[in-house]
Amino acid sequence: MEKYNSYNVNLSIDTINSFLKSKVNFTYYCKEEKINSLRFFIYKDLNIKSIKSNNIADYRVKEKIAKWSPFIKESKEINIYFSKPLLKGEKVDIKFNYSGQIKKVNNSAINRISEKWIELGIYSPWFPLIESIDKACFKVNISFKKDDYFVVGSNITKPTENGWLIDQKIPFIDCSFLASKYFNYNQFKNKVKEVNVQVFYINTSHNKIAKEFNDISHNVLNSFVSKFGDIKKQSFSIVILPRENGGGYNRPGLIVLPNLSKENSTNHFKYLSAKIKNFKYLAHEMAHLWWSKADMTTYEDWLNESFAEYSCLISIRDYYGKERFEEIIAKYKENSKDLPPILNLNREDEKAFDTLYVKGPILLYELEKEIGERMFNNLLCEIHMNEINNTEEFLNKLLELTNKETMKKFKSKLKS
Ligand SMILES: [Zn+2]
Repeated sequence: MEKYNSYNVNLSIDTINSFLKSKVNFTYYCKEEKINSLRFFIYKDLNIKSIKSNNIADYRVKEKIAKWSPFIKESKEINIYFSKPLLKGEKVDIKFNYSGQIKKVNNSAINRISEKWIELGIYSPWFPLIESIDKACFKVNISFKKDDYFVVGSNITKPTENGWLIDQKIPFIDCSFLASKYFNYNQFKNKVKEVNVQVFYINTSHNKIAKEFNDISHNVLNSFVSKFGDIKKQSFSIVILPRENGGGYNRPGLIVLPNLSKENSTNHFKYLSAKIKNFKYLAHEMAHLWWSKADMTTYEDWLNESFAEYSCLISIRDYYGKERFEEIIAKYKENSKDLPPILNLNREDEKAFDTLYVKGPILLYELEKEIGERMFNNLLCEIHMNEINNTEEFLNKLLELTNKETMKKFKSKLKS
């Protein structure tokens, strides 16, 4: 089994001064044959007090803002040099101690520590982010100078004796979380089987849309559970923030949405009216509760993205009717021309996004038409239950449930 890096963090936050103090114990598992150093990035205004380990010869913090990532724009570089080389499979514990301010981040406006709300994550790395951006587990104890803050994060997030704990057990590249005293009472919740859904908001003007999201999420989850089968016990949070810029994002069990009074169009929302866009965005992200098992960095990601997108279109068919569904399908069909094949798709290809989100769903639509809705749901259910995470096994399952001709036809579509 692959060993994941882990962060064990004690974080204290002073919202009045936009200030944080952090002690991080980072465990790194070496995946290279042999390394002599490690490179990290951290938000530019955080000051490193110390970095300790029983295998450190020296470390350097550069003060200049590093240009290394298209979405992390205000970080600086930390280089750690080992006293003896680290070999494949070996681990090292590194203790970081740092503090500083994270005001509203200039370029994206996504992250901040303010009295109204706190939003921290990878965009202005509040934790030492390793250059290879490996997935990691996070255990974060948070305490606040004023203690009426309510924290919303990934996976398991709960109050403790002196603050909050985020126990992010699903390895992920980021540990994003939000906190606000408004979350204490500005919330709706619903439950579908073992899945708990909560919708949080800050401004009272978002009360109506939060309620609507609560209803939509309940509806969508119900229909997915009945079609694709049960999922493990978990909680799922949707947060509506009153910021205009920066856009939304999602993390395991967490969806963050910006001010929805403004038109926020990402590619996810293509070709749709404002109201159906919100429905679609939520449905797509919730579908990932079923479709997230394949490797995100290769073409196998179509088993995540094309499946999530088509599941979402199915829920539009259930909720808004066949006519709206067919309208969207027609637009997707039109836009899936001249796209590269899904099989062995290069993720760097400029058309990769449309191939996964537009063309992939159309292939699934055509397959559903060919084998019928019932068999199609059965196929998706089997893929989910058997934790199928690659195309070869998917095709085997298709062959098992249908016939050679159907499988071969689908395979050739994946190749063209
Ligand atoms: Zn997705």
